[in-house]
Amino acid sequence: MFGKLLNFSSMAHFRKDPFGPAWVIISPERGLEASDFGSVRHHDSTCPLCPGSEASSREIRALRPSASPTNSPDWRLRVIENPAALLYPKNFEQQGVELFKQAPSSGYQEIIIEHPQHQMLLDNMPLEHLVDLLKLYRDRLEHLSEQPDVKHVQITRNVGAVAGAVYEHPHAQVLALPVSNRWVNEELNAAQSYFDKHGSCLFCDVIQAEINGRERIISYNQSFIALAPYASKTPFETWILPRQHGGAFSLQASNTLPLLAELLQALLRAMNAALDYPPYNMIFHSLPVNDNKNYHWHIEILPRLTKQAGFDWGSGFYINPTAPEDAVRFLRATLALQEVGA
Ligand SMILES: [Zn+2]
Ligand SMILES: [Zn+2]
Ligand SMILES: [Zn+2]
Repeated sequence: MFGKLLNFSSMAHFRKDPFGPAWVIISPERGLEASDFGSVRHHDSTCPLCPGSEASSREIRALRPSASPTNSPDWRLRVIENPAALLYPKNFEQQGVELFKQAPSSGYQEIIIEHPQHQMLLDNMPLEHLVDLLKLYRDRLEHLSEQPDVKHVQITRNVGAVAGAVYEHPHAQVLALPVSNRWVNEELNAAQSYFDKHGSCLFCDVIQAEINGRERIISYNQSFIALAPYASKTPFETWILPRQHGGAFSLQASNTLPLLAELLQALLRAMNAALDYPPYNMIFHSLPVNDNKNYHWHIEILPRLTKQAGFDWGSGFYINPTAPEDAVRFLRATLALQEVGA
């Protein structure tokens, strides 16, 4: 009655959840090993991302002196194919029937190695290096947005094993998928309903209201603002948003990136000083192209502070023990101390 399904069962593939908009990646070859989009945790004592290990990965792009050949160890920033990729460029052809849809594991997974030094933190990078890194994030998203079938692009930084980091070495994961992301989708739907009702951007209106109220703003400059969302799901959840409306980070103007770098560094320094270098996730929420005027790209930073904090109470209900207004007061005080000390 449901027709014959293709036999994908032994390799990674997408399955459509018939109860919602989500697609799930089934990855049987991973066995029982934990597998977020990263890879099996790295146990070797030698770091595969440090200079000197270039031969062990496939280089996609690198910033290095122009005369140097591919795979030479004098790079400043390097993009490689994710060695544990589950997804590969191929057509996203949906197969199966209404209740049991599936598709091959198509997509792109890259790793951006953010600095040659193993111990370097985003907080301490020379500002110029961080600006180049942000440009590289943006350019990879732009490049992948233009590939066929791509509906979602993402930069994720997992810092610390608890936050799912695969490597200790500073790195970001780049992901491009043929299906949309459920959290971005949820925000997009909220923004669309808001626009239908009020004729303006939900995110822009929140930014303006927070600037007026000041209670949840951590810091801002001419182009960007850092705030704690009113209904923060986890303690010290922080968003950075561009003050000028735009749906895709890949279209963000280069001349604004130094201001993003400054704000991001100040924020991470304050967070690390206030919370003693917590593991955290940093995720860019952006559309692949600016095809929806109601979305407003942003960065979400989510420290992983306690096991209990932010837990999902029976699915879909968060309990956050730290009011965002308290988190903001704490971070602002730390920022002020740093400015005095600087
Ligand atoms: Zn390393
Ligand atoms: Zn907006
Ligand atoms: Zn978001």
